[in-house]
This record gives sequence, C-alpha cells and structure tokens, in this order.
Amino acid sequence: MIFLSFIGISIILFPSISIFAAMITDIRFWSAPDHTRVVLDLTEPIQYESSFQEKPLQLHLELKGTSLTTQKREVEVNDPLLTKISLIDLGKDKVKLVLHQKKTLNANIYALKPYLDKPHRLVIDLVDLVQEKKEQEERQKQKEVRPKGTKIVVIDPGHGGEDPGAVGPKKTMEKDIVLKVGEKMIHFLNQNKEIQAFLTRKGDYFIPLEERIKIAREYGADLFISLHTDGSFNPQARGSSIYCLSLSGATDEAAKILDDKENMSNVLGGAFLRPASIVKDPNLNQILLDLMQNNSMKESLRFAEYLLEDIKVVNQLKYPSYRQANFIVLKAPDIPSVLMEMAFITNKEDERLLKRNDFQEKMAKSLITSVKKYFKP
Ligand SMILES: [Zn+2]
Repeated sequence: MIFLSFIGISIILFPSISIFAAMITDIRFWSAPDHTRVVLDLTEPIQYESSFQEKPLQLHLELKGTSLTTQKREVEVNDPLLTKISLIDLGKDKVKLVLHQKKTLNANIYALKPYLDKPHRLVIDLVDLVQEKKEQEERQKQKEVRPKGTKIVVIDPGHGGEDPGAVGPKKTMEKDIVLKVGEKMIHFLNQNKEIQAFLTRKGDYFIPLEERIKIAREYGADLFISLHTDGSFNPQARGSSIYCLSLSGATDEAAKILDDKENMSNVLGGAFLRPASIVKDPNLNQILLDLMQNNSMKESLRFAEYLLEDIKVVNQLKYPSYRQANFIVLKAPDIPSVLMEMAFITNKEDERLLKRNDFQEKMAKSLITSVKKYFKP
C-alpha cells in the first residue's frame, strides 16, 4: 500500500494514456428527404481521413486515436440514401466508419464542440444534390401553379433531429409536439379552397434557421408561422406566447434570453449545412427592403392580435400582448411571420396538455381561425 501511494502519480497517469484516445460513445442518424445526417458522440475531438469507394458505393472514414465504447457495430438506416452504417475496430486505436450508400452523394464532414448536454461530435452530412434541387423546384412550382387568389401559408415546426428543443419533465420533446401540431394545421388548412399550406420540415431532421425562411420564400408564402413550445428553469412558468420581429432589439430581458434559446438551435442542430446556399441578394435596395420589412412587421402584428384572441380560448396566455424579439426565423423582410410558443413543455400541467391529441387539435384549429381572419378581405 505504501509502495502504491509512493508511485501514486504514475498509477494515476498510467490509465490516462488510454483516456487520451477519444472514445466513440454513440452513433445516431437523421433522415431528411435530401440528406442523411450521421452523428458520432466522442469524448475528445478526433482526426480522420475520408475516402469514397465506387464499388460498392461507400464513404469510408478512418478515425485515428479512437476506440469504441458503444456496442453498436452495425446500424440499419434504410432511408432513400443509405442502407446501413458500420463501425469496424481496426485495433491500435483506429476505427473505420463505413457508410453504405444507395446512390452518389456529397459529403460534408465537420466537428461540433460540446454544447449544453452534448459532447464532442463528428457530423457527416451525406447530401443528395439531385434530390435537393428537385425539392427546391417542386416548391417553386407551387408558387406558379397556384390558382389566382390562393393564399400560401408555411408552417415551420421548430427544431428537429439533433436538436430536440425544450424537454419536459416526462421527457416529451418540443421537436415532436410541434411537428404533430404542424401536421394537423396543414391538414385543416388545406381543407379551405383558398388556402394552400406547407411544412418546412416533414420529419425528424434539422433545418438551419435561415434555410426555413428560404423554403417559405420558395413556396411564395403569404404568411409564415413558426411553432414552438416554451422552456424555463422555473417549473411554474406556463402559458402561450406570441412573438413578432423586433427591429429595435428585444422587448425585455426575458425575450432576450428566449431569443438566445431559439436561435441557438443552429448550434445544437449543426447549421453548417451548405451555408453557401443561403443566398444574400446584394442588389436589394436598402430603402425598398426597409419598406418591405415595415409592411411585413405591420402585417405580422395584425396577425398576432388575432392569434392572441383565438389562443386564449385554448390555453392561458403568458403575456396579455404579443412580444417582440430578434428570432432569426422572423427575419424575412418580405413575409409576415410570427413565432408561437404554444405552452411551457417544462411545466408539468402544460406538458400533459401538449401531449394530448385533443389539445393539439384545438391549438391547430384556433391558429387556423386566426389565419382565416387575417386573409379575410
Ligand atoms: Zn423552440
């Protein structure tokens, strides 16, 4: 024992040699219509070398200074892009990651630092450029084929994929609830001949915030509604709130924090997905842009007033009026946009409501009542 305590330092140091090798603790994937995102959880950042193989079509990543602690060796994917993912232990602190492709894909590989409860991550986005273009063209076509007088509403279920949003005490995830309400809204809205409604995301995957606006614009949206559920460290906080864009900064401190919370989605979900595709038109005249923005804001506030009226029948309001904050998803100068926090998922009672099908339906229907009022000539 004495001997051990004398060489205590080297005993402590010895096992730390293997600690220096990064460990892969988990592997996940998220399927979007035009890309599949594969995420490796790591204890340390790692070095890797990637190569494509033609026959069979595979992307190989040789991960260096790495060992496996996850039991997963084969992950079945079977989405339109990949069949499966394999992890092969090569020994000597080397692991090979093989992505089995169904078609030719482009790879975007990047590391994410630890953030909140997320560890170091290596993200591999496999993008189907053909499908991506097709989706975009289909959205743009909607704009052209719409009957005269038809209004287009784009519903944006917040978060998705790697980014769960706020999580309730019973582990209910914001990303799932907002998608469910969004789907219900689309269903009810499309029963009106004069309205066509679309979702920004149709499944459990992440879309960068700027990309959501781009999608709305491609559809030619007349109105954009981003759906969220609120989260707070205070378990007592509850109720619905409506947010519009603020041009002069956040209304108050609370909105500033919220602002942060919603916008950090990009950090959580990994917003590094083809940033070049976010087009900034340098020719847009600033004055014209300001005029447009002012009009969109005025229209957003008009819609927000209707929403407050109709929502309070379904759930108590957190604030008697709409709030203003600098959410990225509200920054389209050309589309009236609101962000709605339906209820506090971090409150036991609100979480219970949010999970209920009849509450989701009531919420969707009251939103639609407001949409109809808004479009009424
Ligand atoms: Zn949210």
